[in-house]
Amino acid sequence: MRIAIVGAGSKCLYLMNIIEKYEFQVVFPVVVAVADINNEALGLVKARKKNLFVTNDYNDFFKLDNIDLIVELTGNIDIHNDILTKKNSRVRAIAHTTAMLFWEIDSAARMHIKTHQELSETLALYNVLINGLIHEDVVVISLDHTILDINDAFLKKLGLTREEAIGHSCYEITHHQQTPCSGKEHPCPLAQIITTGKPSKTTHIHIGQNGSKCHVSISCYPLFEQGELKGVIEVSKDITKEIEFEKKMMQQEKLVSIGRLSAGVAHEINNPLTTILTSSMLIQEDLEEGSEIHKELAIISNEALRCRKIVKSLLDFARQSKSFKKLDDLNEVIKESLILTRKQAKFKDIDLDTSLATELPQSKIDRDKIQQTIINLTLNAIEATPAGGKIQLSSHYFQDKNIIEIQVSDTGDGILPENLDKIFDPFFTTKKNGTGLGLSITHGIIEQHGGTILAKSLPGKGTNFYITFPVKQGNDDDD
Ligand code: ADP
Ligand code: MG
Repeated sequence: MRIAIVGAGSKCLYLMNIIEKYEFQVVFPVVVAVADINNEALGLVKARKKNLFVTNDYNDFFKLDNIDLIVELTGNIDIHNDILTKKNSRVRAIAHTTAMLFWEIDSAARMHIKTHQELSETLALYNVLINGLIHEDVVVISLDHTILDINDAFLKKLGLTREEAIGHSCYEITHHQQTPCSGKEHPCPLAQIITTGKPSKTTHIHIGQNGSKCHVSISCYPLFEQGELKGVIEVSKDITKEIEFEKKMMQQEKLVSIGRLSAGVAHEINNPLTTILTSSMLIQEDLEEGSEIHKELAIISNEALRCRKIVKSLLDFARQSKSFKKLDDLNEVIKESLILTRKQAKFKDIDLDTSLATELPQSKIDRDKIQQTIINLTLNAIEATPAGGKIQLSSHYFQDKNIIEIQVSDTGDGILPENLDKIFDPFFTTKKNGTGLGLSITHGIIEQHGGTILAKSLPGKGTNFYITFPVKQGNDDDD
C-alpha cells in the first residue's frame, strides 16, 4: 500500500518511522509522498533524504498515479474534505482523527509488548527465586492450602515429581496429614498470615521420604494481588544439623559443669575417707581377729573402700586423672577384659566370647582406661542380658579409613528408643542401684582418644556398642 501524507510534522515522522520499523503481515505500507507548506517540516526533511516525492502543495498528489492512500495529518477538516472531493475514486483517504486511532492501537501494541517483556522478566526472576534457591525449600500455597508451585530442591527432598505435588495440600505433602497443621508445636504459618497479613516465621518437624525427622525453619510471606491476599510463599530451611550441634554443645557444657562439680566434691571427700579407712585399719590391728568389733570395723573399711571407688569414678568422670597413652595391642586389652568379666557372665549363664581381627595394627591408647571402658560395656551387657543369652566382644580393622572398631554386642533387653540419646548422660540410669556414670565415663575416655562411641539397639533383641579408634603412629606419652 503506497501512502501519501499531508502535513509533515512530528506525527508524520512518527508514522514514517513506524512503517519502517515494523514488519507488516497483511498490507505492506510504504510512504511514497509527503506534502507540507513548511519546507523544514521534519517529515518533509526525512522524505527528501529518502528521495521520496515531496511538495508544498498536496494538490500535486492528485497528479500522481502510484498512490493508494492519502493520510491527512494537518488536523484541518477542510483540507480533508478537499482531498475527498479531488482524489481519484481508486485512492482512499483517512483523516487526522482516524489516523489517531492507529496511534492508539500502536501504543496499545507497544504496551502489550512491554508488559509481555516485563512478564517474562518477572517469570525469569521467579524461576531463579524458586529453583535457584537450592538450599531452601520453596513452595507457593493458595489460601486453601493447595500447592500452586514448588521448587526442585523441595521435590527432590520429598522424592516427588512436580505433578505429584502441585494441586495437593501442603499438610498432606509435608506432614502426611489429612488436616492443616495446628497447635503450639506445629502452628500453621498460612493461618498466621491470614490473621495478621504479615510475614511469619516458625519451626516444624517434617517427615522425610525415609521416615526420618528433620527440623525445619519456615519463613512465610504473603502474596497480594491488587491489595488482596491470594496466597503465601513458604521458604523453609533444614536446621536439623544446627539443632543437633546445639544439643551436642549443651550436652558438652553440662558434662563440663557436672565434671567440675564432681571433681570438687570428690576431692573434698577423699581426705576424710582416707582418715576413716586408715583409722579403722589401725584399730583393727589392735584387735583380735574374729572378734565382733573386728568384723564391724572390716565392714567400715570395706564400705570406705567402696566410697573410694565411687570417688575414683567421679574423678575419672571429671577427667582429673591423667592418661598415659602408648602404642598397644587392643586385642590384648579385649582379652584381659574378658578374663576379668568372665566370672560374672558365667554366674548368669551367659555365653561370653570374642571374635578378634587377626591383623590389628597397634594403637596409641591408655591401656587401663580402655580396659575400663570395655569392662564397663561388658558389665552393662551382662546386666541387660538374661540367662542363656550371648555377648560378643569383637575387633575389626578398616584399612581404607585406618580405624579400628571394637564392638560389644549382646542379646539382652535392649534400650528404649527414647532413652537411646540419654544413656551417655551422667547419672542416667534405669537400674535400681545404678550410678549412671559408667557410660558417661566411657564416652569421656573414648573422646580423649579421639575416637567415637555409638549405640544401636532393638528393644527385646539386644544392643550393640561400636567404638572406633584412629590408628595413630608414634609412641609419645600423654597428650
Ligand atoms: P548404670 O549401669 O549405672 O545404669 P551406665 O552409664 O553404665 O549406668 O548405663 C546407663 C544406662 O544405659 C543403663 O542404666 C541402661 O539403661 C542403659 N544401658 C547401657 N548398656 C546397656 C545394654 N548393653 N543393654 C541395655 N541397656 C543398656
Ligand atoms: Mg553401667
